Amino acid sequence: MSSIQIKLNDKTFVPYLDAQKIQEEVKKIATQINTDYHDKNPVFLCILSGSFMFCSDLVKNFCGDCEITFVRMSSYEGTQSTGNITTLMGIVEDIKDRHVIIIEDIVDTGNTLSKFIPEALSLKPASLKVCSLLVKPEALQDKVKVDYVGFSIPNDFIVGYGLDYDGLGRNLQDIYVIKG
Ligand code: 5GP
Ligand code: MG
Repeated sequence: MSSIQIKLNDKTFVPYLDAQKIQEEVKKIATQINTDYHDKNPVFLCILSGSFMFCSDLVKNFCGDCEITFVRMSSYEGTQSTGNITTLMGIVEDIKDRHVIIIEDIVDTGNTLSKFIPEALSLKPASLKVCSLLVKPEALQDKVKVDYVGFSIPNDFIVGYGLDYDGLGRNLQDIYVIKG
């Protein structure tokens, strides 16, 4: 991993999780999901935009039949969750009687999933679980159950590996944290 700090617009970020560590964790999560779903033809429901990279790496490590579908939610402005959750693109596939796994990049306040999970459940999937690469337990305060978690992290703003600051940083292979 690069040991240097990076600048995105007006903010500086320092290295936090390197690509190798992230990939190892993604493989561990995939192993658990393989055990639970290899014969279930699950639907991976990727919440855009932040989850695109995690979802892509995760499904490459899934060994059975599966489908992948996308929804787009938005809640963040700059470095803050607005609490104002907008569904920019909802569920278009039929998930009735399917085993659905929601794929999130990070669960922070849980507001996004608190809004999204009832919407998904109203479509009567056979089962619904949540998988998130990162969770901020301090902000979440058990509001939402996350069934598969990569890393539990402090309540600091991060970028990279799909996560952005004002649209920038999504392409980075490593994850960086805002310089305090
Ligand atoms: P929540 O609704 O749980 O507060 O957060 C939902 C979304 O906000 C996450 O899926 C993610 O896209 C974005 N988010 C939360 N924390 C961070 C963060 O530290 N950095 C970035 N770039 N986005 C975040
Ligand atoms: Mg997200």
